[in-house]
Amino acid sequence: MALSSQTTARPPRPTIELEVVRTAWLSPHLVRVTLGGAAFAQFQDRPETDKYVKLKFTASDGLPVTRTYTVRSVDATAATLDIDFVVHGDEGLAGPWAAAAKPGDRISFMGPGGGYAPDATAGRHLFVGDLSAVPAIGAALEALPVDAIGHALLQIDASDAEIVLAAPSGVVITWIVDPAHDTETLANGLRGLDWPGGRVQVFAHGERESMKAIRHVLFDERGLDRGDVSLSGYWARGRTEDRFQAEKREPIGQIL
Ligand SMILES: Cc1cc2nc3c(=O)[nH]c(=O)nc-3n(C[C@H](O)[C@H](O)[C@H](O)COP(=O)(O)OP(=O)(O)OC[C@H]3O[C@@H](n4cnc5c(N)ncnc54)[C@H](O)[C@@H]3O)c2cc1C
Repeated sequence: MALSSQTTARPPRPTIELEVVRTAWLSPHLVRVTLGGAAFAQFQDRPETDKYVKLKFTASDGLPVTRTYTVRSVDATAATLDIDFVVHGDEGLAGPWAAAAKPGDRISFMGPGGGYAPDATAGRHLFVGDLSAVPAIGAALEALPVDAIGHALLQIDASDAEIVLAAPSGVVITWIVDPAHDTETLANGLRGLDWPGGRVQVFAHGERESMKAIRHVLFDERGLDRGDVSLSGYWARGRTEDRFQAEKREPIGQIL
């Protein structure tokens, strides 16, 4: 039976398989994996600083699953890209894979997608997140105009998770060490900032419940315009990414 034009299926998203070129530990909690190889030629870069790919893994039951990761940077000349992985213990697939990765290991992914880039016309930039968002925030800080004004609030479990981030001199970077990983910590940090007025562009991503707390500060307390805010959960405590993604269709998974 012929398909009508209305029912034509979307072409499958291409999968790219690359190999590990090298790894570098940026801190005891974050490992940078540099990927390259002949298939890099198929990688279609995007302008967004939060561009991400869906890495393919096999779950313990043998089923295919994906894990979402920011492409921290792309080096077109070297034909490589960097992904920074939070190493969060023995649980999970992507974190342990990255911690053990060695040159020659192979990994497949789909993408990239992306949704945010700093708007040079914004008067002020705010970046809020935990270690999972540090790659995307680091890429955004590097893309800001040299005269940009702003603040980055970064919640980490331990002081040795702090890394050096390049940013314009007008952007203050505050690391908040919170071993209890309280879901109100970032929201309270935001409340404590000066809010001088003018248009603020916000990039806030990280653990889902922390992002829900931030939502109240940004929209209910500060009355920001939705169009100036990029806000989402990157993961949820106690959930695998499969469960976290599935819960986006349930009330507990809704942020906006
Ligand atoms: C658009 C997007 C971009 C992202 N970019 C990055 C990135 O650049 N780097 C990065 O490290 N993560 C990033 N993440 C988050 C990452 O996808 C999740 O942390 C993912 O769950 C990790 O997969 P896993 O297989 O290691 O653990 P899973 O199998 O998904 O989870 C196993 C257990 O580990 C816990 N867990 C998962 N992540 C963390 C964490 N960060 N800290 C503490 N506990 C955790 C889970 O709650 C669960 O209990 C991004 C997510 C999104 C949606």
